[in-house]
Amino acid sequence: MISVARIKGAFTVDGSDPALVRSQMEEFGRQIPLLYLMLMVNTVAVAVTHIDCAPAWLAIYMPAGLCVVCLVRCVRWWFFRHRTLSHEKAVPELRKTLWLAGVIGVAFTTWAALLFQYGPAYEQAQVAFFMATTVVGCAFCLMHLRAAALLLLVIVIGSFTVVLLVAGRPVFVAMGVDMFFVGVALAFIVHLYYRNFAGLVASKRELLASQAVTQKLSDDNFRLANIDSLTSLPNRRSFFSSLNALAEQGSVASATFHMGLIDLDGFKQVNDIYGHSSGDLVLKEVGARLLEFADPAIFFARLGGDEFGIIIQRRLTEEELDRLGQTLCERLSRPYSIGGNTAELSGTIGWAGLPPARVSVAEAFERADAALYVGKESRRGTAVVFSAEHENRVRRASQVAQELKAANLDAELYLEFQPIFDVATHAAVGFEALGRWRSPKLGQVRPDEFIRIAERTDLIRVVTEVLLRKALAEAAHWPAHLYLSFNLSALDISSVPRARRLLDIVQEGPTDAERVHFEITETAVTRDFRQARASLLLIKQVGCHVSLDDFGTGFSSLSYVHRLPFDTIKIDRSFVAEVDTDAASAKIIKSVMDLCRNLGLECVVEGVETESQRDMLTALGGRVMQGYLFGRPMPADAMSAFQLNVNAA
Ligand code: C2E
Ligand code: CA
Ligand code: CA
Repeated sequence: MISVARIKGAFTVDGSDPALVRSQMEEFGRQIPLLYLMLMVNTVAVAVTHIDCAPAWLAIYMPAGLCVVCLVRCVRWWFFRHRTLSHEKAVPELRKTLWLAGVIGVAFTTWAALLFQYGPAYEQAQVAFFMATTVVGCAFCLMHLRAAALLLLVIVIGSFTVVLLVAGRPVFVAMGVDMFFVGVALAFIVHLYYRNFAGLVASKRELLASQAVTQKLSDDNFRLANIDSLTSLPNRRSFFSSLNALAEQGSVASATFHMGLIDLDGFKQVNDIYGHSSGDLVLKEVGARLLEFADPAIFFARLGGDEFGIIIQRRLTEEELDRLGQTLCERLSRPYSIGGNTAELSGTIGWAGLPPARVSVAEAFERADAALYVGKESRRGTAVVFSAEHENRVRRASQVAQELKAANLDAELYLEFQPIFDVATHAAVGFEALGRWRSPKLGQVRPDEFIRIAERTDLIRVVTEVLLRKALAEAAHWPAHLYLSFNLSALDISSVPRARRLLDIVQEGPTDAERVHFEITETAVTRDFRQARASLLLIKQVGCHVSLDDFGTGFSSLSYVHRLPFDTIKIDRSFVAEVDTDAASAKIIKSVMDLCRNLGLECVVEGVETESQRDMLTALGGRVMQGYLFGRPMPADAMSAFQLNVNAA
């Protein structure tokens, strides 16, 4: 059963759906002028044929009045056909249209019903025909406003069917019945059409909504792929794609951009001392300080860890670049407050300098990296602009990297061994294996140089493995009381699986794991404390020993010694050089030795070159030492002679 509410609903304007209202206005706004035009033409046609048979007020004045109303409405709609109304204005406009449809329907039906009384049968039939065609035309024009179309049909068809039926003539009765059924069919069609129309609007709206969701997802994806979530700065990917785009633009003329790299000084210490969440706060703050440089030509990105990139899309002189760098450094070195603590950090910047024409992205990056390296080594907290003197370093580094990549590492790498000496027993307790590389092209390459480059190019994994196998094979020939001390680089302990591989080599090798000591520098540990700690624990599990190398050179905090499973601390040679002349050095060494004693750790003093140093160190409580005084690093085949000499002495 069709409920009263549904019928009522069909005759009222539904203003609850803004999209539907907007579409209704758009659709019938275009058809309404046509509706009035049709009404006027039909009215004039009927009026003219009735001039002779009907009174003037019915044949002239009333239709003229109706036509004027139609004309006014027609012109109004014509002029406003392109307007877009707000929802608040559109709903009353629709209601007004509904109301007007009723009034105009009543007016025309009244006029036609009165006119129907005059004139002969032909004229009467013409009026009936006028009503039927006009109402069909109007209903079609109003189809998008179902309420108005239905109201019009009810008024016109309803009342005119009655007029025709009461006219009595069989022809008119037949016409009345006809009209009634056509009206009902038309109402049904209007209803179906409107339902489809409203459904279409709703599905269009859903489509738009789902498009909006898709767009948002794709925006989010883009953001995630290009923005660093911690600092909200563009990320590494975004940095390099901008750099590539700029390099392409500038490839014809001279390059029009500058690039730089920022590395924070002391960040790792913050991470270790205050925890990772404090480290994150510092990175966020750094991001915010960089963004404060609201210059559209300057682009900052976080490249990873505590490394940031800068691109400047403007040509600057070397002085301007330097000044900008110092301003940035000054900002970065202001104190950072992190959860109640204050951390002191600074940033070192390396500028790629003034690139010549056709500079490649890789070259620019290499230059900035070289300048940054110089800054980190000797001018922390400042900006260094790449210059000719760095050029040699870059060239040499890329040459070494190239040769190292191409090298037959198994044949070209070898080891020298330096004794670690017990001054009480006058005997070696172990030997430190020191990597050596003789390149057929470059000759002998210093270990700190090729190790650093191997670390950067990730060749260090192979280098360490080759050297470790050789060292283990050599140590197998030594008397059982001598241990092998082997240097690991930061990357070797940067993940547990990596450390595991090295331990597999030890366990498969001919030397007992207990005789193997791994030397690890402080910086290796501070790189990623958690991973390093896990790797060290694994090393200990296998039975190997762990030594903290170069103690005192980093931002040494004794907290590492507590928190990591070290067996030995090796005091860096920089303290030893002045131990017999400088009271402060002696004091430091003494306190480290005391610390070792308290913690039950072995202490090795490195770089002992003179007897005076040895005596001073002995007086301070030192016992195990290493240095030129006891023996320089020597090839494996010189070791037996050395042992004989020592034993003889
Ligand atoms: P290190 O681990 O501190 O090694 C000790 C360095 O001090 C060696 O330099 C050694 O020759 C030098 N040395 C020893 N006694 C004295 C002395 O009395 N006076 C002075 N002035 N120097 C002394 P070397 O062989 O040039 O090695 C330099 C650095 O290269 C090493 O420092 C270590 O960090 C790295 N390295 C060497 N071999 C390897 C290796 O196989 N793997 C890794 N990862 N690093 C290595
Ligand atoms: Ca070492
Ligand atoms: Ca050392």
